Amino acid sequence: MGHTVLIVDDADFMRAMLRDILENMGLKVVAEACDADGAIKEYRRLRPDLVMLDTTLPDADGLEALTGILASDPEARAILVASLGQRSLVLSGIKAGARDFIIKPFDEPRVIATVSQLLEGCPA
Ligand SMILES: [Mg+2]
Repeated sequence: MGHTVLIVDDADFMRAMLRDILENMGLKVVAEACDADGAIKEYRRLRPDLVMLDTTLPDADGLEALTGILASDPEARAILVASLGQRSLVLSGIKAGARDFIIKPFDEPRVIATVSQLLEGCPA
């Protein structure tokens, strides 16, 4: 595919796991961030095609990061990476402009399907 991705999660193993899956799909992981501030800065700097956005970050919830990203690019494509029990946060995120979500612990086929569907028809 050759699309670019920013991975945002405060858990190292989660970023590593997502990186593996996305790189195996042929995507280019251009940066990782571990908090909302870093997520917004890296998004503005790199303008990736996709953001995988953890909903629970040390400095803010994922919605604040999402809002900051969408403020700089209303067309930003973000997939929320949420946990079970975060239903209302996920719904708020979708309303705010997130394109889709996955629930941790996720399985690889589900991640691949969600990402492929979102990037389908999107020029790399
Ligand atoms: Mg987290």
